[in-house]
Amino acid sequence: MNRAACTFCQKEFNGTYCRGNLQRHMREEHLQAQEKHCCRFCDHSSARKHNVRDHEKRKHGYP
Ligand SMILES: [Zn+2]
Ligand SMILES: [Zn+2]
Repeated sequence: MNRAACTFCQKEFNGTYCRGNLQRHMREEHLQAQEKHCCRFCDHSSARKHNVRDHEKRKHGYP
């Protein structure tokens, strides 16, 4: 049966490419959110590395 469900949010995918669609969904919806970048000087964190580097620069004067 061509069916696959996301283990994070139970969203279901049907059809020939359900596995590929599910993998892309997981990568885009869940994995990036889990991968957090943390400030090296305080407990500030963001999913985007750029935001943390920008924070380090503005808040802590780090180059
Ligand atoms: Zn999901
Ligand atoms: Zn900080």
